[in-house]
Amino acid sequence: MEGEKKVAAMEGEEKKEVGAVDVSLKELSKKLHDFAKERDWEQYHSPRNLLLAMVAEVGELSELFMWKGEVRKGLPGWEEAEKEHLGEELSDVLLYLIRLSDMCGVDLGDAATRKIVKNAVKYPAPTKGA
Ligand SMILES: [Mg+2]
Repeated sequence: MEGEKKVAAMEGEEKKEVGAVDVSLKELSKKLHDFAKERDWEQYHSPRNLLLAMVAEVGELSELFMWKGEVRKGLPGWEEAEKEHLGEELSDVLLYLIRLSDMCGVDLGDAATRKIVKNAVKYPAPTKGA
């Protein structure tokens, strides 16, 4: 019983953290568009440049995990500054991915939703009780 409450509390915390900022891909896309336009950076945002920038950010993200061995869920033992840095690098990757998708004319939310459906067909869940 006590264990169940603890798990429920942890799930609640996780949901709270995940749902703390509810922002759509379209909102982020608009912010990125405005950010680039205000700085006249649209000229640099070719698909190739954005792809290379995203890959560079994946490298920065990878550095945070480099030489740490296996990292457990929740990142126990990581300092708050490291977790904050991780959030920044994850964001860099996401933001370049969104911008790249926009510059390629791909609706990322739609494409990702379709891909999940496609994956479910390709990798069907095992039937229970069989
Ligand atoms: Mg970065």
